[in-house]
Amino acid sequence: MAVLPIVISGDPVLHRPAAPVTEFDEALSTLVADMFETCALAPGVGLAAPQVGVGKRVFVWMYEDEDHPDVPARGVAINPTLWIAPIEPGLPGEEEVEGCLSFPGERFALRRSNRALLRAQDLEGEPFEVEVDGWFARIMQHEYDHLDGLLYVDRLVHPESRGAQKAARSNGWGKPGLSWTPGIDDLEG
Ligand code: ZN
Repeated sequence: MAVLPIVISGDPVLHRPAAPVTEFDEALSTLVADMFETCALAPGVGLAAPQVGVGKRVFVWMYEDEDHPDVPARGVAINPTLWIAPIEPGLPGEEEVEGCLSFPGERFALRRSNRALLRAQDLEGEPFEVEVDGWFARIMQHEYDHLDGLLYVDRLVHPESRGAQKAARSNGWGKPGLSWTPGIDDLEG
């Protein structure tokens, strides 16, 4: 297993749709194992393959939810689809502040749906589904967006959107080739 560099906002791999996984092979297992290790060290509650420079429809989550003991605290979703309940109208509250390992050290508030149904394949290609709500549903939406080339900062509304633009500018992001490595670079997402 290896810790992988995490690509920062501005690299094209983060801003285009990822391709479906067709081979459920050793290389995929290795990628997922490395993503778990990277996510744990970052630390993060989820990580999508484009964030480690791989344009494939794969994400992992690492999140323990006492309300949902039926949902594994760590899991991998391959070729997922996601259904969400309608998002409540209004501006996001303080408790809706989100972060992203590809926009490290910054946090902004975003409205999300409170319920999500994830259908995906596991490492063997077997289909499964999980239904989650609250913060778990937010994680699923955040990671799923990565597979469509969307960062959570792309969904922000004013004034949060302006704050994110300023943060990207002052950090010198928004260009290809930037990354940070958990355990080596002193950053947190
Ligand atoms: Zn993210």
